Formats: sequence, structure tokens, C-alpha cells
Amino acid sequence: MLSYQHAYHAGNFADVHKHLTLHAVINHLLRKKSSVTYVDTHAGRGLYPLDAAETTRLREYRDGVFPLWKSRQTLTNEPLLNDWLEALASAQPDSSHLTYYPGSPWWMGHRLRKGDRQWLYELHPREHQLLAQQPFQEAVERIHGDGLKGLLQRLPVKTPRLCVLIDPSYERKTEYLEVAQTLLSAMRKARHAVVLVWYPLLPAGRHRELLDELRDAGLRKIWFGEFIRQSPGEGERGMYGSGMLVVNPPWGFDECLAAAMTPVINLLGASGAYRSGWWVGE
Ligand code: SAM
Repeated sequence: MLSYQHAYHAGNFADVHKHLTLHAVINHLLRKKSSVTYVDTHAGRGLYPLDAAETTRLREYRDGVFPLWKSRQTLTNEPLLNDWLEALASAQPDSSHLTYYPGSPWWMGHRLRKGDRQWLYELHPREHQLLAQQPFQEAVERIHGDGLKGLLQRLPVKTPRLCVLIDPSYERKTEYLEVAQTLLSAMRKARHAVVLVWYPLLPAGRHRELLDELRDAGLRKIWFGEFIRQSPGEGERGMYGSGMLVVNPPWGFDECLAAAMTPVINLLGASGAYRSGWWVGE
């Protein structure tokens, strides 16, 4: 079953949280010269025109990226957020208008250096086809296949460093544990990898299975950041928040991110909150 299409949700509050976290991690990784392989296990279609039929149906970006974009002139004193918004402007054909929202492949890949690599896995045939049409650099490999299996098959990588984003749609309840088991296997093959995992905060609380499995298996250095958009009761069955795990987070990245999340909460979440810290320390 592959019914989820990210275009319906492009640029929503969870995308902002996920891609800002990703941007902060990559900023820190780029401080060192040694090359990086970036793996996106669930890539989506890569770039989302905001006037696409799917995106205009729910227009979730209006409560996500849009308030930040509109206020960008007043956010210049917050370095990470300002940098992220400038990157977003550079993805537009006309930098004064927000017409596209870039997906994770772009946030990972638009700053590839000589020697860096990027692998993009996407299982949905149509999403993969749209991703394949994006004009990415030669070092970007687009694979029509299962990203969790593909990652494990191809580890370890040839570059000195590895950064992985695991961003499933969690359409199946078993995905939480599948992600945890894949992550644990991946860390056995690439101990120093920096791995980011997105998870939804839903009233059913299934993300706990993922978090508990990682802790109980003894994995260390797991950082988490959660953007609570509204209290769980308010959204009834809907997603009330967005969570990110980062295994082996770069030193100092969380302070930069926490500072950037303050104006994000003010602009996006009437009753919102952000919390972060170690899920499992060193
Ligand atoms: N990472 C994207 C971004 O931030 O722009 C969004 C990804 S979306 C949440 C999840 C995507 O994973 C969907 O496009 C779906 O078709 C794809 N997918 C689902 N199961 C997959 C699997 N086992 N391997 C690779 N892709 C998968």
C-alpha cells in the first residue's frame, strides 16, 4: 500500500521543523572538509509547486512555511532561520515570491561539494518519476526502491562521513519498529553515521515504540527535538506535533536550532512549544 503523497502536505509545520533540523545538521557537517554521503531513504518528489492540485487542496503550507516567508525581513537577527529562509529564496525562480517548497533531497543536496554523494530512495513509481525529472547534480543517484533495505545493502559507504534521513509516512503501524530495527542495523555497519529520523506526534502515541526500541537496544547519543503545535486533545485524531531524532548529533547544533525554533513557535503555533535534549546520552 502506497497511498501517501507528500504533495498534500508540502511546506506544513512538520516540514518546517524537519527541514530546519536537517539544515542545522548539514551546516555543522559542512564545517569539516572530509566528504559526506547523504542518504534519503524516503525522498518524495523533491520539489513541490505550491499551486499543484494536491497542494492547493489542503494548503497546509499556509500554516507552515508561509508565515515565516512573509515575516522573513523581520527574522534576519536569527542566524539559522535567516540562513534557511535565504536558502528557500534561492530555490525560487523569482526570489521575491514563494512558488515552490523544496523537499528533503534539495535541503540535503543543494550544497554538495566535490567528493560528496547523495542517494535518494523512493518506492512510489510516480513520485520516483517526478524525482528523476529534477535537475540535480551528477553525484545524486535516484533509486526506485525500498530505502530501508537499500540503505542496509549499501553500507558502509566510501566517503569518510555519512548522513542519513529516514522520513517515512508511517502509513503502516509496523513502520515504527521497522525504522528502529533498520537504524540499529545501520549503526552496527556505520558507527559514526549521523542519522535523522522524523516521526509524527499523534494521539495514539506510537512513536514511543520507536523511541523505546532504540533505548532498550542500548544505542547511545540519541538526541530528540519535538515541535508541539497544539495540545494532543485539540487536534482529535490529527497530528499534534512533529518529532526528530538525531543519532550522533554534531556538537552545538541543538543550541542553534533551539534559537531558530523560538520565532517558529511564535509565528506557527498559537499554543505551541518546542522541547529538545538527549533521549539517550553518551
Ligand atoms: N522526505 C520527503 C521530504 O521531506 O520532502 C518526504 C517523504 S514522504 C513523508 C514519504 C515518502 O516515502 C513518500 O513519497 C512515499 O512514497 C515514500 N515511501 C514509502 N515507503 C517507502 C520505502 N519503503 N522506501 C522508499 N520510499 C518509500
